[in-house]
Amino acid sequence: MRFTKLFKRQLTIARVYGIPVRIDYRWYAIFALSVWLIASNLQSHAMQLGNVEMPPLPTVTAWILGVITTAGLFLSVFGHELSHALMARAEGIEIEEIVLHPFGGLARLRMEPQNPRAELRIAVAGPAASFLFGVLAFGGTQIAALGDYSTTFVVFFLIAAWNFLLALFNLLPGYPLDGGRVLRAILWRKTGNMNEATRMAGMCGMLIAGMLILFGIYILIAPNWRPTQPYFMGGWSILVGLFLLDTAAKVVKGAQDARLVTVADAMSRPITIDPGLMVSRLVDDILPLHRQTSFPVAVGAQLHGILSLEDLRSLPRESWARTSVQTVMRPVGPGFFVDPATTLNSAQELMKENGVGSLAVVNAQGQLVGFLQRGKVTRRPKRKSRSR
Ligand SMILES: [Zn+2]
Repeated sequence: MRFTKLFKRQLTIARVYGIPVRIDYRWYAIFALSVWLIASNLQSHAMQLGNVEMPPLPTVTAWILGVITTAGLFLSVFGHELSHALMARAEGIEIEEIVLHPFGGLARLRMEPQNPRAELRIAVAGPAASFLFGVLAFGGTQIAALGDYSTTFVVFFLIAAWNFLLALFNLLPGYPLDGGRVLRAILWRKTGNMNEATRMAGMCGMLIAGMLILFGIYILIAPNWRPTQPYFMGGWSILVGLFLLDTAAKVVKGAQDARLVTVADAMSRPITIDPGLMVSRLVDDILPLHRQTSFPVAVGAQLHGILSLEDLRSLPRESWARTSVQTVMRPVGPGFFVDPATTLNSAQELMKENGVGSLAVVNAQGQLVGFLQRGKVTRRPKRKSRSR
């Protein structure tokens, strides 16, 4: 096995609510680096945080605190991801795994949220959890300060600061950050076009990534203002920026490619019903087998119209047995069918506006060859997995 592969291989370290939690080997390096950074600071500097004063600590104490604090920081990241995952589950989306990687965490969902509201809730759940952890840890500092436990104070202080930072950073409005997902949900809701919303939120993500990289470079070379650890902070900002840039660029590219996906790539085999069928038979015999909200009405491959269950609502139940599908369907007309070569994007626009939420797919010979339903569109070629 190649070294880089070994380095990226993932281990399952736990299962929480049935969700596998994985880390890769790079994670050990980051854990060690964090312990070292915290311990060496506690060892060499006296700390003044508010009115709590702490002299430089003995080596062993400093390292123990380094380990405890680092464990707290990683648990914070995990809690953030778990919050996304549990909200996704509440929205009916299964979770593949939670991965902790050097730049934070990732809750991988089996599929994309099906509507902007679900997207928004899942996105907000992570930063909300971080903010809550931050408040709790801040409460911890206050209690520690009362009892004059300066070391406990420092641990809580670092964990609180980290969680607030995590919440704020993740709310930056660029995909794939949580704030970018919020932006995507808003644009999606406004325009109704998920793909375009993804592309725009991805572009914002690239912009923010670029700003992080520039900020990192500035810290490294700025003559006037420098933080205490310029190389670490600058380097980190550049690394995170590059990581985000890579992810956001892939998202934008994916959304651009999706513009070229055609109806033929996404349509399903049509389940047709006969115009002469009675509504009662449709309800008794066909609906239990095919749970869809509209059906193409056809004789052979000849499309006659589309029947939407929504249109049956106004029909009293007593008349179901003597009403034929033909009398309640929407007769075929523009807006109800497309050519297989139409882009999926424009087909989705059409479905949004035609009142039945579906489209028949008719080829050049006038034959019904497929059916598209809003909210049930899946591109066949590859399974989409979602990461955050
Ligand atoms: Zn998040």
